[in-house]
Amino acid sequence: MRAYLRRKIKAKLQNYRVALNKPDENLPTRLSKIKSVAILGGGIAGISATANLSERGFNTVLFEKSDYLGGKVGSWTFESNGETLRAEHGFHAFFRQYYNLREFMKKIDSFKHLIPIDDYVIMFGEQETQGFKGLDNTPGLNVLGMRKQGIFNWFTFVNPFSIPFLNLLSFNPKTLLKN
Ligand SMILES: Cc1cc2nc3c(=O)[nH]c(=O)nc-3n(C[C@H](O)[C@H](O)[C@H](O)COP(=O)(O)OP(=O)(O)OC[C@H]3O[C@@H](n4cnc5c(N)ncnc54)[C@H](O)[C@@H]3O)c2cc1C
Repeated sequence: MRAYLRRKIKAKLQNYRVALNKPDENLPTRLSKIKSVAILGGGIAGISATANLSERGFNTVLFEKSDYLGGKVGSWTFESNGETLRAEHGFHAFFRQYYNLREFMKKIDSFKHLIPIDDYVIMFGEQETQGFKGLDNTPGLNVLGMRKQGIFNWFTFVNPFSIPFLNLLSFNPKTLLKN
């Protein structure tokens, strides 16, 4: 039954490959003569702009004010009590649904630095923990899986206060195109 539903949902969602941006294939993909471009900020946006423009023949210079790259996903070292410690903003899990980011990391050869973990466990207070291991990765079935794991219950679906939460589950490619 579950395998049948997985197949049906995948087909309904066009194999999860909905083209939002249809480039004009008649336009050149590379510049005919070199142009220079300055990119400010070495976060994900700046790094990907630099890489993509370089691929298209731009002469790129990336300016970053910090001494590390990555911006919000970067990490840096600092000294404390004679020790050198590493800090980050807290974005430390590159889940599989970040497929664009992961593909880009492979392209720039930084994916090899990610460390696979068995589960992503969130701790609530001293005792309670919540993991995400074993959740179905089919849209819809993953939500039911989360209900089974106690992340929410049936009441969540009928409670008017849950509407902002339930809105997170909606996806409409047409709205994306409009924005
Ligand atoms: C804890 C945490 C969890 C997150 N979780 C998620 C998530 O689950 N999913 C998700 O999609 N996003 C998440 N985000 C958000 C995501 O990390 C950011 O949206 C994204 O990294 C922003 O990238 P950016 O390149 O636009 O900006 P930034 O990463 O902010 O990069 C901007 C860069 O510009 C540099 N800069 C600024 N001013 C100048 C200047 N004048 N000259 C030169 N350089 C300058 C800065 O030093 C910085 O390096 C999370 C963020 C945090 C902190």
